[in-house]
Amino acid sequence: MKVLVVNCGSSSLKYQLFDMDRQACMARGNVERVGTAEAFIVHRPDGADKVRRDVEAADHEQAMKYVFECLVDPRIGVISDLAEISAIGHRVVHGGEKFAGSVLINGAVMQALEDCQDLAPLHNPPNIMGIEACRRLMPDLPMVGVFDTAFHQTMPKEAYLYGLGYDMYTKYGVRRYGFHGTSHRYVSARAAEILGRPVEELCTVTCHLGNGSSLAAVKHGESIDTSMGFTPLEGLVMGTRSGDIDPAIVSFLCEKLGRSASEVVLGYLNKSSGVLGLSGGLSNDFRDLEQAAGRGHELAKLALDVFAYRVVKYIGAYAAAMGQLDVIVFTAGVGENSAEMRARICSRLSGFGISIDPEKNNVRGSEQIISTPTSRATVMVVPTNEEAMIARDTAEIVSRLGARS
Ligand code: AMP
Repeated sequence: MKVLVVNCGSSSLKYQLFDMDRQACMARGNVERVGTAEAFIVHRPDGADKVRRDVEAADHEQAMKYVFECLVDPRIGVISDLAEISAIGHRVVHGGEKFAGSVLINGAVMQALEDCQDLAPLHNPPNIMGIEACRRLMPDLPMVGVFDTAFHQTMPKEAYLYGLGYDMYTKYGVRRYGFHGTSHRYVSARAAEILGRPVEELCTVTCHLGNGSSLAAVKHGESIDTSMGFTPLEGLVMGTRSGDIDPAIVSFLCEKLGRSASEVVLGYLNKSSGVLGLSGGLSNDFRDLEQAAGRGHELAKLALDVFAYRVVKYIGAYAAAMGQLDVIVFTAGVGENSAEMRARICSRLSGFGISIDPEKNNVRGSEQIISTPTSRATVMVVPTNEEAMIARDTAEIVSRLGARS
C-alpha cells in the first residue's frame, strides 16, 4: 500500500509518499510560496538529487497538481500511475475535543473541522484548504485526518482546566489542548520499543525541542499533561515565542507599546520573543546562539540558559505529576541535534541522580541512549517522525475499510 502524507501551511505544502509494505519513504518535497508569483516546488525522490521547479500555484489545489505531476513524472517520479496511491493522510493542527484519534475524513468530519477554526485561526484554515484540494482532485481516494491535539485528549480535567470560570470552558472551549501530539506519541512509543519495555510500564517525559517546543508527561502510554495550552504559545521559551508569562504583562505591554492585545499576542509574543528576543534579536536558530555564546556573547548565553531552565522546571513538574520518572526523551531540531543543549539540561538534573555520558551524548539525529548505566532515569535521543506516524495511522484506518491496496 502507498500512502501520501500532506501537511499544508498558509503558504506551503509539504508531502511524503510512503511505501507501507517496505515502511519506506519513496519521495518527499514541498511547494513554497503558494499564493504568490514566486511559488516553487522542491521534489526529492528517495536516493536521488532534489529537483527545483518554478510553478504557478495561486492556491493549494494548483500546488497539489504539481505534487501529483512530480510523483508520476517519467524522469523524477516514483510511481507510474496515481491509482497506485491508496490513501492520503493529512496533518491537522487542531481537532478540539472532537478528535481523540485519527479519523477517516467525511462530510461530518469536515464540518467538525470548520467548527474548530475558531480555536486555531492560523493553522486550521490551510489544513482544511489542503484537504479540500485533495478531495476535489482525487474524489474517490480515502483520506485520513491526523491531529496534533489528539494524543493529549487523555489529559485529566485537573491538567487541562485553567483557573478561570468553568463557563469559559463550557461556553468557549477555553482549556489546555496541547500540540505536537503526533511527535510525543511517536517518540514515547519508540523509546519503549527501543528499551524493550511495554509502554504501559513507563513514565516518560518527552521533550520536543525545536523552533516550537513542548514537553509531555506520558504515563503508561497516555499523555497526562503537556506544556503547550489553548494555543502553542504557552509553556517553554521557544525560538520566537515567549512561553509562560504573567497574563497581566499583555495589558501592560499594550499600554507601553501602544499596540492592541492581538498585536501584542500574535505579533510580539509569538514572533519576536523567546530566545530571539532574549538574545537581543540575534537569532532564533540555536546553532547561531550556541556559536555566539561560545564566542562570549552574553545575551546568547542567557537565552540558552533561560531555555534550559524552563525545560528543567517542566521535567521536574512532570516527574511530580506522574509520581515517577523512568525515561526522558529528546527529539526535534534542537533535541535531536544539540548535544550542548541536552548537556545543559541534564547537568541541572544531576541532583536527582540523572546523568548522561558525554561520549554517548555526542550524537546527532539518530536513536541513542545517552544516560550512564547508573542514571536514575534513562535519557534518550529519538528522532521524531510525524509523517511516518501519519502514514501508519492512515494505512491502518484504510485497511480496516478493506480499501484497495
Ligand atoms: P524544528 O522546529 O524541529 O525543525 O527545529 C528547528 C531548530 O533546530 C532550529 O532553530 C535550529 O536552531 C535547531 N537545530 C538544528 N540543528 C541544530 C544543531 N546541530 N544544533 C543546535 N540546534 C540545531
